[in-house]
Amino acid sequence: MKLLDIGADLESIVSHEFESLHSGGGRSSIQGGQTAADHALSKLDITGYANNRSEVLPLAARGASVLSPYIRHNLLPLQRVWDRVSKAPFSDREKFRDELLWQEYARHLYARIGTRLFNNLRFEQIWDGPGNGWPEGMACVDFAATELREDGWLVNQSRMWLASHWTVRNSLGWLHGQEEMYRHLIDGSRAANLLGWQWTVGSGTGKPYGFARWQVQKRAPELCGSCALKSKCPIQEFPEEISLNAAPFDGLLLSDPDLEATTGPLIVQENHEPTTVLLTIDSLGDADPALIANPDLPVIFVFNESALRKLQLSSKRIFFYLETLQDLATRRQLSVYIGDPYEFAYKNSVSVTYAPVPSFLKFKNLAEIHPYPWLKSPHPLSIRSFSAWRGKLK
Ligand SMILES: Cc1cc2nc3c(=O)[nH]c(=O)nc-3n(C[C@H](O)[C@H](O)[C@H](O)COP(=O)(O)OP(=O)(O)OC[C@H]3O[C@@H](n4cnc5c(N)ncnc54)[C@H](O)[C@@H]3O)c2cc1C
Repeated sequence: MKLLDIGADLESIVSHEFESLHSGGGRSSIQGGQTAADHALSKLDITGYANNRSEVLPLAARGASVLSPYIRHNLLPLQRVWDRVSKAPFSDREKFRDELLWQEYARHLYARIGTRLFNNLRFEQIWDGPGNGWPEGMACVDFAATELREDGWLVNQSRMWLASHWTVRNSLGWLHGQEEMYRHLIDGSRAANLLGWQWTVGSGTGKPYGFARWQVQKRAPELCGSCALKSKCPIQEFPEEISLNAAPFDGLLLSDPDLEATTGPLIVQENHEPTTVLLTIDSLGDADPALIANPDLPVIFVFNESALRKLQLSSKRIFFYLETLQDLATRRQLSVYIGDPYEFAYKNSVSVTYAPVPSFLKFKNLAEIHPYPWLKSPHPLSIRSFSAWRGKLK
């Protein structure tokens, strides 16, 4: 385990300590940290959201909140964001809360079916097959791919364009496209990214989303005007509508035989006395239940060296985490390491908050496990579609 000096200049930390643990890509304009998250939430105004959430250009027309990096890492728990919009105009509030529920749905789905979400969920779609699904030349694809690679954040609409273009237009395996997007997104989560890809390319729904010039003219008209291919647009027409064949049926989509394992503990599991709080990537905020329950304990975060070496995430993501930790260090006694978080947890008495992701099972011998801050409790009934899942929520 290597201890980092979290008070040092972040550019120097990334270049010296994370060499070979990222794939470059600079820094996002979106700042990490609880302070930045609180500031973004305090400025949130969703008036007009229902009409404008999908606008891509001009930038001033965008209605999306840009809260996703904070929500993904639980710097902003979903309940807090939900409550924050209680006085917003009705249609904007309903649409926005619907999207918060999509985030919760992604978490429930991934918690229940785990790594099976990496495979075609309900319908057969091109899954494997490497290559670059975003070749240069079209102004719309170039714009979205550049924003992804330079800033690490995209509106939902651009994510759909890119996913559809990769697989529906260019017939490349969606698994590789989602990996490329995941590497760059500072809100990148397996749950929401896999769901987003499966729902766009049709493996989750049976109906692939067709990307065509029509959407670009509606959501970012200036792009078509400046495109070198404007008189021979390769996506002038919608792609042919096709029905995908059903994939082998997964019974877990209909019922959950182990709701307890999906949900995690409902009350604090106390195994022995903790001496430190361990934060995970899924819960980095001041509202982390283990952090709140142990206000006097030192706090530890361990970057997972072998996972980072393998994933080769963009440096934008590393900077976002470091900014978040540097901000936390102004309020808590924090030590940050590069090493093996599971080994650290095994050998030390740590208090940790449950995370609804398959890798949480790698933690053994935890001193204390705190419940995950669900927006809605997982249920054991159908989760095969958003509406089926939502209809059974309490
Ligand atoms: C191909 C693809 C990949 C995606 N990958 C991710 C990802 O890795 N991480 C991620 O958080 N979201 C992902 N999404 C969902 C969505 O695009 C982003 O959450 C949203 O664009 C973030 O911007 P925002 O915060 O301004 O969202 P807003 O429109 O302001 O919505 C508020 C919040 O609701 C949630 N939300 C909104 N739309 C969705 C959605 N479709 N699915 C799940 N949650 C949603 C997010 O937490 C978001 O911050 C993906 C969507 C697609 C189509």
